[in-house]
Amino acid sequence: METCEVLVVGGGPAGSTCAGSLVRAGLDVLLLDKERFPRDKTCAGWITPAVFKALGLDAEEYRTGRVLQDIKSFRTGLINSAAVVTTYGTTVSYGIRRCEFDLYLLERSRVRRQLGETAINLERKDGWWVVNRHIRARLLVGAGGHFCPVARLLGTDIGREEVVVAQAAECVMTQAEEQQCRVQPDTPALYFCRDMKGYGWLFRKGSYLNIGLGRRDTRDLTLHVRDFCAFIEQQMGLPAGLTGRLKGHAYRLSGGEGRRSCIGDGALLIGDAAGVAIPESGEGILPSIESALLAAETILAANGDYRCDNLQPYAARMNQRSDSVNSRISSSQPFSEISCYLGARLLSNSWFTRHIVLDRWFLRR
Ligand SMILES: Cc1cc2nc3c(=O)[nH]c(=O)nc-3n(C[C@H](O)[C@H](O)[C@H](O)COP(=O)(O)OP(=O)(O)OC[C@H]3O[C@@H](n4cnc5c(N)ncnc54)[C@H](O)[C@@H]3O)c2cc1C
Repeated sequence: METCEVLVVGGGPAGSTCAGSLVRAGLDVLLLDKERFPRDKTCAGWITPAVFKALGLDAEEYRTGRVLQDIKSFRTGLINSAAVVTTYGTTVSYGIRRCEFDLYLLERSRVRRQLGETAINLERKDGWWVVNRHIRARLLVGAGGHFCPVARLLGTDIGREEVVVAQAAECVMTQAEEQQCRVQPDTPALYFCRDMKGYGWLFRKGSYLNIGLGRRDTRDLTLHVRDFCAFIEQQMGLPAGLTGRLKGHAYRLSGGEGRRSCIGDGALLIGDAAGVAIPESGEGILPSIESALLAAETILAANGDYRCDNLQPYAARMNQRSDSVNSRISSSQPFSEISCYLGARLLSNSWFTRHIVLDRWFLRR
């Protein structure tokens, strides 16, 4: 039997961030992931400078030997309509590749790890968690993303939640494809569905091209994806076959109806497992990292006694965040209704695009 104080299930940005904080404070932590790293994750790979700040990470240090695409402008519009280009003249965001970013964070955490093993069997015995019948831990941190088994353990009925559904693909372009591709590396494209319930993106990071579409409405995703792909294939000179390689995924947004319960006796959830992504944009990496840091604070303050009461400060902070998302969304409700109704007109307006769509929804400046 392998023993540790804290077992973190999942080695994405949430799991590695939480594990790193606990390891630095001297706790005995083991991280389990079903994949071997580097592994891919279905994602656009867009992050704001706030991610580097939250991680205490120097962007220039990260850039050495990895893809870090500066973003200085955005092309936005409706699918099947003309786009507006908004230029900031400085770096306002970055593009990363998840296979590199997640590996970097995992290695930086210096956590002891067990990769290539799925957490399947989770049992509570005499105040310990016993996982897969051979790992024993006092505390279980669920960082396994939307379908995390620890979330099920804490009562989440995963199939019944409101989620974002998305499909995405990332490919490396040949030299000829790069020359043909009309997506500028520092100018990702965001094209909204006409009902404003989702958007598609095209994002070039050096030689890599990422394409995808996500929606808050689970119906007809494939039709919307097909419509978007047909539109951009024609417009942007994409590599042949790229749009046939999209993979699907789902995740929960913060706020809204029916929150996930993020603590239990000797267990807590962080990142997508807790449902933390920002509703306006679907950004999940930053809130996942932030939830991991909050969880680590509470775990350390619990000082080895992980009963539910001692994990309550984390739940209270998460509830506060969720409440503030709800009040932000409801206070902008009249506006979002107008924007749905007049979507086509508003998205061709450069003031609306810069100040509402980009500054407020996506960059949260
Ligand atoms: C199509 C798409 C595009 C997105 N684009 C962006 C974007 O551009 N920017 C952004 O900020 N956010 C984006 N997001 C959201 C973002 O990907 C997530 O919010 C983020 O990855 C959450 O991090 P995490 O560490 O909680 O979970 P994950 O990154 O999902 O990591 C979970 C880990 O747990 C492991 N795991 C799962 N189950 C088990 C198990 N049973 N046993 C062991 N290990 C397990 C997995 O292998 C994985 O490594 C996107 C999401 C989607 C679906």
